[in-house]
Parts: sequence; structure tokens; C-alpha cells
Amino acid sequence: MLTINEDQVIYSMSPENPPVAEVSSGETLAFITKDCFSNEIQSEKDLFASVGWSTINPATGPVAVKNAKLGDTLAVHIIDIDIADKGCMVTVPGMGAAGDLITKSETKIIPIKNGFALFNDKIAIPIEPMIGVIGTAPLNEEIPCGTPGRHGGNMDTRLIRKGTTVYLPVFVDGALLAMGDLHAVMGDGEVSVTGIEIPGKVTVKIELIKGQSEPWPVLETDDYWYVIASGKDLDETANLSLKAMLEFLAKRTDLSLNDRVSLLSACGNMEISQIVDPLQTIRFGISKEIMKNYNLQF
Ligand code: CA
Ligand code: ZN
Repeated sequence: MLTINEDQVIYSMSPENPPVAEVSSGETLAFITKDCFSNEIQSEKDLFASVGWSTINPATGPVAVKNAKLGDTLAVHIIDIDIADKGCMVTVPGMGAAGDLITKSETKIIPIKNGFALFNDKIAIPIEPMIGVIGTAPLNEEIPCGTPGRHGGNMDTRLIRKGTTVYLPVFVDGALLAMGDLHAVMGDGEVSVTGIEIPGKVTVKIELIKGQSEPWPVLETDDYWYVIASGKDLDETANLSLKAMLEFLAKRTDLSLNDRVSLLSACGNMEISQIVDPLQTIRFGISKEIMKNYNLQF
């Protein structure tokens, strides 16, 4: 199996990045990833200030997919996520949703053992490894890996985990898929700006869907479909996520606009992914079970 090493990284998603490998639709490959601090934080003495901004949020790749063109979709099936045996978190004055309260910079090293993140001697958190940054190259622009958007990027969505399929719009020839920023576990909101940041290895199967795309990334889990939108604040993002789900359903059902709005008001779930990145991210989900008679497909 092709493996992309963690020394092949980019710090922004851009059509100018040369691909480090090329794969075909149907292929399975692995990405070894550094944590969001480029593995520079190794002990509780390593404070956030010691990490250079230039090495924040590396993504491994990019990988080109044969025949991928503007208007296609890349389906990335997440087969597995292996993580290292320790992760880290930082709290920094002025950073994150509680940055106005924090007066002292701290680093927390968190051991991972037997499926738990050992937060302290009284709290063990069940791990749910997830991918913070996953995306394709945007059209005609360069977007730092720390920013989410229509191309994916730093969506920090905890449902991007083993078993999920991420559908990413393709904007440039080859799509240029890259990923990184794994978290051993992260809560919705990611309020401090860090999940339990950790290096690891992601195994994915790539599938190219020709001539069809959605305006935002879409997630398929075992039991839900989600659209993921990012915007400058939660109000704008809530609106974008709703419009994206209305459009997703319009293409796949015969429901009127009024019925789609009512349906989403009755059983659609608007969920916060993160509120701390340069743009904020909301996912809007609908249950496959409720929609089973429509048999939704991407
Ligand atoms: Ca992140
Ligand atoms: Zn992260």
C-alpha cells in the first residue's frame, strides 16, 4: 500500500502545490501525519510560544487523483486512524473561546492507554480519533491549512473519523488531497483551540465521482448525512449550513422547498463543529433512517 510520509507536508492548500504521489480511483493509501504543532511540543515545558507560526498545521500530501477535474467529487472513505501514545493540549492567554479568562500559558501532555486519554488521575476520556484537517486544493487561491472552507481544510469536525466518508469538491486537476491535525478526541466547539493533538496514521480509500459536486463538503456516517459549512461567525455559518442541506435534499428528493424547510425544522440537526478557527464550522445532519424511502445517495 502506498504510504505518504510525514515529511511531505504543506501549510496551505493551493493549486500550486506539486503532488507528492498520484493514485487512481479505488486505491487505498495511508497518510502519516504530524500533530498541528509539527510534533514540536514534547513536554509540559514546551509552551505554545516556542512553536513557530510557520510550522503550525502541517497537512501531509498533497496526493493527485488521476482524472479528477473541476466539478467532480472526491469520496474519501476513512478506513482507519491509528494514533500515537501521547497527545498534547495548550491553553494560551487570548486564544480560544476562554482566552479572555486565561492568564497563564500551559501545556498538557496526555498519555493514551488502552483506548483512553488519561487527562489526570481521576479522568479517563474514551478516545475517538478524528481528522481535523482534510481537504482538496481550492480554485485560484491559497488557503492556510488552519482555515476551513468549501475545499474542506481545518473543519475540526469530530465525526470525521473511522467509518465516515468525506465527500470533497474537486476544483483543480488531480484534486490535490492532503490531511493532518489528528485529535485523539475533541469536543464539539473545540473551545480551547486544541483537541488532544496527536501524530498518527490515516488509511483511506479514494473514490472519484465524475461530473457531480456539492458546494460544501458532505459527510456520510453509518446513520446520518451531513453538510459542513464554514463562515465568519455562527449566525452566518448556521445560515450557510441550512441552505446547503436544503440544496442537498432538493437534488435528491421531490420535496417542495416548504416541505424541506419543515422537515429540517422537525428532525434536522444543526450541530457546532468548532468556534475557534479563522472561520467557524457547523454541520447540518439528517437521519438516513428517516429518509430511507428516498434512499439518499451522494
Ligand atoms: Ca484543527
Ligand atoms: Zn488540531
